[in-house]
Amino acid sequence: MSDTLQKFMFDNSLVRGELVDISEAWRQVQLLRAYPPAVSAMLGEMMAAAALLSANLKFNGTLIMQIHGDGPVKLMVVECDASLKLRATAKLSEGAHITDDITLQQLVNQHGEGRFAITLDPADKVPGQQPYQGIVPLDGNSVATLIENYMMRSEQLDTKLWLAADLQFARGLLLQKLPDEGGKAVGGSEADADAWNRSVMLAETLSREELLSTEIMTLLQRLYWEETIRVFEPRHPAFHCSCSREKVGNMLKMLGQEEIDDALADLGKLEINCDFCGQHYTFDTVDCTQLFSTPTLSEAVQPPGSQQH
Ligand SMILES: [Zn+2]
Repeated sequence: MSDTLQKFMFDNSLVRGELVDISEAWRQVQLLRAYPPAVSAMLGEMMAAAALLSANLKFNGTLIMQIHGDGPVKLMVVECDASLKLRATAKLSEGAHITDDITLQQLVNQHGEGRFAITLDPADKVPGQQPYQGIVPLDGNSVATLIENYMMRSEQLDTKLWLAADLQFARGLLLQKLPDEGGKAVGGSEADADAWNRSVMLAETLSREELLSTEIMTLLQRLYWEETIRVFEPRHPAFHCSCSREKVGNMLKMLGQEEIDDALADLGKLEINCDFCGQHYTFDTVDCTQLFSTPTLSEAVQPPGSQQH
């Protein structure tokens, strides 16, 4: 069973929704690293949220959620591109003791110095173009609350999220009230003004356990069987890491020749592991010399033995 994202629309209303199941991708993230349950729950929920937001945007690029924590969690990163390819990782501080009932505030905002940013990085950047970055205030105790508040402030859009993740499953539901343009729904007839309240009220009956244990199409039916709902073509999120030898080479080049030469003198060669997928990259003295001497980066990072003509 592959991961699924299902968009839907309440007929004759200004309410749209999305359900997502990214359990398969989520288990792949955890193959590389096992996290304490509280960290797992939060990272899995962020991943579900990233897929929901990404599918909701008309944006060709990567949505990046990044939390720099000041507690036992140092860093959490989730990325989702326009084709719903996801990757995620978390870094804990050394010797961190994380109980199962720790709160989000204790995890990432212990001293009020945690930072949460959502970045939209366009796929086809023109030179000098900066990615768009929004700061998400850490003013709640669930990922859903943080993002709901952020969406209200930054987009002035009523958005509600229900997220749940454990070691096996990561699922989410998003409801959004579209801006009212003169009381007319997309179909042209009078909009069903109460649809938003009804859809939210019904979703509030959904427990975390139910969200974790139920297929999303079953959930959709169970919640809204009395409503007329239009469903769209389902999409399929999946785990994918975008790391490459070329990108690692680029990163090394940005550190500068002096820094790299020092590291080579100490270590003989540079070993880099991708935090997202575990892929291992080695750059020896020859590789590094090429990195700084060849005119274009893509030439410098050709794997040994391959020639470009
Ligand atoms: Zn990778």
